[in-house]
Amino acid sequence: MEQPGRVSRLPEADSWAALSAGLGYGEVDMERLAGKRAFLTAAGQGIGRAVAELFIAEGAQVIATDLRADSLQGLACQVAPLDVTDREAVFGQIRAAGPLDILFNCAGLVHHGTILECSDQDWETSFALNARSMFWTMQAALPAMLQRGRGSIVNVSSVASSVKGVPQRFLYGASKAAIIGMTKSVAADFVGQGIRCNAICPGTVDSPSWRGRVVSQARQAGLEEEQVRQAFIQRQPIGRVGRPGEIAHLALYLASDEAAFTTGAVHLIDGGWSN
Ligand code: NAD
Repeated sequence: MEQPGRVSRLPEADSWAALSAGLGYGEVDMERLAGKRAFLTAAGQGIGRAVAELFIAEGAQVIATDLRADSLQGLACQVAPLDVTDREAVFGQIRAAGPLDILFNCAGLVHHGTILECSDQDWETSFALNARSMFWTMQAALPAMLQRGRGSIVNVSSVASSVKGVPQRFLYGASKAAIIGMTKSVAADFVGQGIRCNAICPGTVDSPSWRGRVVSQARQAGLEEEQVRQAFIQRQPIGRVGRPGEIAHLALYLASDEAAFTTGAVHLIDGGWSN
């Protein structure tokens, strides 16, 4: 029976139930993350926010964090400000959150430019936010996950990484490639102990920071914003940019027990850009 206020997202519920029974899942639970405790970084806007909203709707107990506390307003879950470049804060908050079933690492920053426009300070800043933060969050969350013998870690990388060389994304690509390396390494080390660790590699997604990049790149290149927007769109053969909710549904799958057979994998979701 449908729960009040919930709409079934599975139009062919009968065939799904049959499939699930065949897989030995037993009864289908419409809340795909029921009873799971999830810690999210950069949940205030864009992909992180969409993931927070979907995880909450799917029954998870979500702890949503972001650098900007005000951006977390309106999320129906536990929220807390967290700067993922602050080691003490990362370890303190993850340990205080108690044993986690899901760690969703989303914080990231785009540096625009080639190797020739990359200063040492740029390097430090991007690697601290994009890569080292995930080293810390995973190191903080893993002991309790290992103790209970279960946990799913989902790290947001990008197509601009070891997957694809993208012009003007030297530092971004390097730091996002580091995420893939860490993801695979953690997956390999703990595969026999109930831990799964996967990476999501989105193509261009409509988010507040992407909209900001359109404006700033147009200004820098002396172009109309529409020209820059179209250039982003044309990179993706599917003919549009992605929506945060589309990335959130992949994150939901990876976080849930439905993905019990996937770990150490790079999940592309990019409108055919890398194809
Ligand atoms: P966004 O860039 O619009 O928002 C990023 C969020 O991160 C903001 O809420 C911000 O407050 C938070 N943040 C910034 N610094 C932080 C810090 N030090 N500690 C904690 N939080 C901090 O969101 P988005 O564009 O959806 O990007 C989210 C992730 O997805 C990033 O890792 C990004 O690299 C990745 N990604 C985005 C795209 C895209 O086109 N939007 C494509 C591929 C990958």
